Amino acid sequence: MEIQPQADGIYLPEVDFWLDAQKPVHTSWVSHAHGDHFHSGIKEVFCTKGTSALLRVRGFTGKIQEVDWGSTFQIRDFSFRVLPAGHIPGSAMLIGENKGKRFLYSGDIHPTPHGMAESLKYPDVPIDLLICESTFGNDGFVQEDPNVLLQHLLDQTQSRPLLFGVYALGKAQRLCAMIHKIETGRKIYADSGIINYFPVYQDLGFDPGPIHPWRRSAISEKPSPILLLSPPAFKARARDLVWFSVWVSGWKLNYQPHYVRNTLPISDHADKESLLKFVKTIQPKQVYFNHGYSQWMENECEKILIKVAKIDDSKRIRLLNS
Ligand SMILES: [Zn+2]
Repeated sequence: MEIQPQADGIYLPEVDFWLDAQKPVHTSWVSHAHGDHFHSGIKEVFCTKGTSALLRVRGFTGKIQEVDWGSTFQIRDFSFRVLPAGHIPGSAMLIGENKGKRFLYSGDIHPTPHGMAESLKYPDVPIDLLICESTFGNDGFVQEDPNVLLQHLLDQTQSRPLLFGVYALGKAQRLCAMIHKIETGRKIYADSGIINYFPVYQDLGFDPGPIHPWRRSAISEKPSPILLLSPPAFKARARDLVWFSVWVSGWKLNYQPHYVRNTLPISDHADKESLLKFVKTIQPKQVYFNHGYSQWMENECEKILIKVAKIDDSKRIRLLNS
């Protein structure tokens, strides 16, 4: 089995099949509908029904082969099976099998259920190679309970219009559901880039609760309104002092826009401890980290005798024989 990690995706040369290609290839697996995991120029993608619906909202016009949870599909002598990844609706991990070897490609994962995605499901078969995201795979980010952080923020800003800067797909819907759960009585508004994804969420059985298109007159509402804006619109409004502006991102520690003073660290990725627990539970023979920072994870894996895969001279992952 040949596996080539490249800058713009993982390539399986024996079957000319890509995993999360970020360039216009012929055929690719798409683990989920975030923009850094697919390319609009791909001719044919394999993905779950949820990812398919979200890709169409994003304007993807290529051919889509929808794969059901737990079902398998075949590309020549490779067979593939999908498992929920817990990140956003439809997000999936992929098990690939050929000539007695089996890999698991994680895509982005959130092992702790958060209610706005299918809960992550662990494989029920031994894995030779785990290809694992490591967005927070360095020693640094630890996710505190996001509901407690949010409650504190809402208490602090009861009489002030609250503006959140959030990514339009995933974070915005999760934040909306979390605010509704706290029952503040405050109405939640958003821009169309965020609202457009809500019908797909509802169709898939993940209802983030009521959301309204923003209108200026709502600024004087009592109780004070909450507005969710995707990054470009947030940037244009965040300095307006009528708002208490908050940037929501797990990347708080690594990246914070210079125009933002308040942040709320909520991540849709595993933090380092839950990433390590994920790897320990799967117990692969080898692990290869992509998508992020991996030094801390690599050191921890070596300590528990899980081998970190190396790349050979032909830029392929060197698979162990036994
Ligand atoms: Zn993602």
